[in-house]
Amino acid sequence: MKIHLITTPEVSKKLLENVYNELNILDDEMVFLLRGQMPKEDMDLLGEYLNNFGEFDQSEKELFTICNGFRLINKPLKDDYVIVFTSLRETYQWFGANSNRNILINTTNYENIDEKELIYALAYQVIEYIFKSHLNIFFTDKVSKNRNFFFHNKGIRCINEYSSDIFDVIEKLCNTTICETCLDNATKNGISNKKIKHFQKLIDSIRSNYLSYKKTKPSPLKKIQISETGKITIGETEISMEPLPKTLYIFFLKHLEGITLENLKKYTNELLNIYTKIRKSGDKKSVLLMVQPYHAKGGTTFPKNLNSLNTTLIGSLNKSIVDYYTVNKNNSSDKDKLIYKIRLSPDYLDLDPKF
Ligand SMILES: [Zn+2]
Repeated sequence: MKIHLITTPEVSKKLLENVYNELNILDDEMVFLLRGQMPKEDMDLLGEYLNNFGEFDQSEKELFTICNGFRLINKPLKDDYVIVFTSLRETYQWFGANSNRNILINTTNYENIDEKELIYALAYQVIEYIFKSHLNIFFTDKVSKNRNFFFHNKGIRCINEYSSDIFDVIEKLCNTTICETCLDNATKNGISNKKIKHFQKLIDSIRSNYLSYKKTKPSPLKKIQISETGKITIGETEISMEPLPKTLYIFFLKHLEGITLENLKKYTNELLNIYTKIRKSGDKKSVLLMVQPYHAKGGTTFPKNLNSLNTTLIGSLNKSIVDYYTVNKNNSSDKDKLIYKIRLSPDYLDLDPKF
């Protein structure tokens, strides 16, 4: 099986070459072909269709025009895969999309990582989408029968897990492989053991190259310290916050695993404890107002305090690292499972035992 790798003209040739080098492990199961940039003339031929691109939920036909255009002009075998790297329509929030043997990889949705990390992340996306196609899990299935597979549950460490942001992509790059269910489905879909092994070999190779690279690169992250009195320091920078946002922040630092909003009320005592340590004379009612559900009388002050603490952090920290320190909503596909969490690893946290 051959896999043609191409880019639209605005994506650098060098980037494609680097991704190709990550994927080009000698094995006759999947042969990657470096096809370079799509010539501008070919793009012009497709121009009329491309201008008709709609919003995210546009029809498959329009979205994959570039892949089909390549097929019409270059006539690869019907069974070959065509993978297009593109930064066109950069407002899209997806990393990749697939339809049968056509795959699009978005090259723009990777903030906070350097050029080298981008190569590993893109190579990983290529494997993820080829594997999805082999299991008949398609981009268009977000709204149809294979929806559950497109939104594979998080935390089972499978290549098919849903990535809501770049942190998920990196986590997958570091930790995931192919889960039992997907292995079973692969066999049911007639994928040979030899090919599954090739998938696993590719995943391992990209991971090991990525991890070796990470070792050579010092982390830009700084330790966050919470003193006995609740003073917050990140690296050398002291961060001042009002008592309530600070209470909420220390609470989330204590729960790096993340908390769903519906569960927040269960932690009222813990929040009160933190609050009284920071502000002895404080009015406890203000904490109760923060944990109330949205629909309760008087509403909840949770969003206001969350916004306040995040705004303070954004104003105090470098843009390249701030996303590791703010409290972020995890865009789970399931609303009840919307988790608020800080992305920081516990290695960077020094919290006074008083909290
Ligand atoms: Zn799986």
